[in-house]
Amino acid sequence: MPTVITICGVLDTHPWIETPLVTADIRTPVTVIGLDDTDSRERGMCTTYVSDTIARRLEADTATVDRVLLIRCNPAVKHKTRGNAAVAIHTDAPAEAAFETAKRVIDRLAETTDDRTNPGLVVAPGSPESVPKAVATFAHDAVCDHHTRDRAVDRLTAADYRSHGWKNGRGIIGALAAIGAWNAFDDWTYEHICYRAADRWGTDRAVGFESVFEAADAFYPRVWDTVDRGTGEAVCVPRTPGPVLFGIRGDDPTAFQRVAERIESEPIDRSRTFLTNQGTDGHLRTGTVEDARDGYAYRLDGAVFSAPTTRRGGHVFFEFGNEGTTIDCAAFEPTKRFRDRIRCLRVGDRLTVCGEVSRGTLKLEKFAVRELRRTELTTPLCPECERTMKSAGRGQGYRCRDCETTAEGKIDRPIDRALEIGWYEVPPRARRHIAKPLIRGGFDAETHPER
Ligand code: ATP
Repeated sequence: MPTVITICGVLDTHPWIETPLVTADIRTPVTVIGLDDTDSRERGMCTTYVSDTIARRLEADTATVDRVLLIRCNPAVKHKTRGNAAVAIHTDAPAEAAFETAKRVIDRLAETTDDRTNPGLVVAPGSPESVPKAVATFAHDAVCDHHTRDRAVDRLTAADYRSHGWKNGRGIIGALAAIGAWNAFDDWTYEHICYRAADRWGTDRAVGFESVFEAADAFYPRVWDTVDRGTGEAVCVPRTPGPVLFGIRGDDPTAFQRVAERIESEPIDRSRTFLTNQGTDGHLRTGTVEDARDGYAYRLDGAVFSAPTTRRGGHVFFEFGNEGTTIDCAAFEPTKRFRDRIRCLRVGDRLTVCGEVSRGTLKLEKFAVRELRRTELTTPLCPECERTMKSAGRGQGYRCRDCETTAEGKIDRPIDRALEIGWYEVPPRARRHIAKPLIRGGFDAETHPER
């Protein structure tokens, strides 16, 4: 996701426009609103913006919004617009009023003129903790599996939730997943999203490139994936026509306000901090090379079976697996310097690879080196003249004709390895929303984070 940043006009360091931080549980929410599929790739909009508008309406009606969840569902789902995001709002507004408010806002803001935009709204009365196990399981599976709309309707009917679908109503799937998310996941990060004024949507974003890098440096690793230092891109600034000016991701909700304050930009119209399953690897299933199927993302153990090769377009491929079954692994061109890590692999290295399988190829997001091949079999050198020996005939070892020295067979020669044991990852510019950056920690070996 390369970023174009245009500086135009006078830059502001903006006065802070803020919504309350999302962590404090001051009042118990009694309603959960789930929504999805309101945006369009070409026409813009963003489900997070729709949810922020709903939250503001509820607050204007004296309700409290305790938190808003941004849930990334299965990135392999083919209907997604971009990052397969759904949203849940936890509020103390009564369910009926919450439903009517949310429906009105979606009616007005969703880009339903796009054929592929099929919004869904689900409202669950009760606290997020009281959501039944079946709905939490649905949420868990929405991130690493595939659902049908019918299954979503069955689940929400059984739970006695009110819902509304626009057009084919596919958004009901993500909306229900967002409702179950609070009970389904235990690893959460944050994204603080700053939005543009509506009259600027679709125009170049005015964001001070230098200030983004300075802010990112000052607060790393409390915030991560703000920029890509390798390519010099500000990955927190989208290129799409929607309302997002920039989004700051990280683990420390106290850092976002200060990061955003340091970024020089056009005026921020509004902002909100979302609690999210981004950066958690929730999509990865532990599997085997034999069972890996298209449309799912895995963590697989095995060995390198063929030397990495660079194909047309700069994509790097190698064969990976176990005796009997292998799968192609790919580091695509947009992963840039990650491909150099892959090119350092050798046949026989033992790895854990992570990524989505699509058309029989695992698209690498990260990998762990478990064992490196440290030697290779090579023809011996003559101990006298140090030239490579020649074969003495089939099964008869090697000899040097000039010096009349002999050797029984090939010998193990140490190889210099540029890789170390541990985890390697794609750079921030190529990170999927849900993929866990190594800097977050909690991995089972040493890490080599990209920043
Ligand atoms: P953006 O990230 O820009 O908000 P998007 O990438 O979230 O857009 P959507 O427009 O929400 O894309 O489209 C994704 C669609 O896929 C939604 O209708 C959602 O309900 C559906 N969906 C989400 N998860 C699953 C799943 N696991 N199985 C089947 N459908 C799913």
